[in-house]
Amino acid sequence: MAQSSTETAEADLPFVIVLGPPASGKSTLVREILADHASFRRFVVRHQLAREKSNGTPLWESIRKSVEKGRWIPDSLVVELFARQLRAYPSARMVLQGLPANGAQAVMVRDLIHAHGVRTKLVLYLDASDDVCAMRMRHRVVCTTCDDGRAPAGAAPKAPDRCITCGGLLERRPDDNESVFAQRLRTHRRNIPAIFAAFRPEEITVLDAKATPEAVAASARVALWTLRGG
Ligand SMILES: [Zn+2]
Repeated sequence: MAQSSTETAEADLPFVIVLGPPASGKSTLVREILADHASFRRFVVRHQLAREKSNGTPLWESIRKSVEKGRWIPDSLVVELFARQLRAYPSARMVLQGLPANGAQAVMVRDLIHAHGVRTKLVLYLDASDDVCAMRMRHRVVCTTCDDGRAPAGAAPKAPDRCITCGGLLERRPDDNESVFAQRLRTHRRNIPAIFAAFRPEEITVLDAKATPEAVAASARVALWTLRGG
């Protein structure tokens, strides 16, 4: 065989879609997946928005205008953020974090991935109750630079408010307050049936988000492995 087994294995990777209610552990799981498969590219709507904004692109202008009018960002523009990454990195395998967020986005994302010629998708859904998510939200902080949320471990770390990955400042997210969070949870619960309906049942794996991050990552690994073996 001319190809190395690693090369073949990476080309076999599906697109992975990590979904779940807010504060269910999506970032943590995506970090674990990237640690296993460095060739994956991570896609997060929030990050891509920041890039479009700093480049002052026409897409950002369209988004800015709809937000200024007090509207949600139209689904087609949210999905266009992803489509741009697909065009920019045509051979990359992607991990989508938090996209799609509703049924309309799910259909568009699914069709884009198909049109891109990727055969397999794996939807990893982090299942957690409202109470678990709300409790985690109250305790979470996020790095303002790299989006990691981990502080140094130990009884008296030297810089408890600094990110262990990049040293950036750890802060609470502005949308992590009780009323906005409750609304985000309700929206998520309302949208999830239509999101699931856009994918085949065998493409969806539900993970118990109450488990430890290690256990969640292990279950995700099994799902990815099973999909590739099947
Ligand atoms: Zn950081």
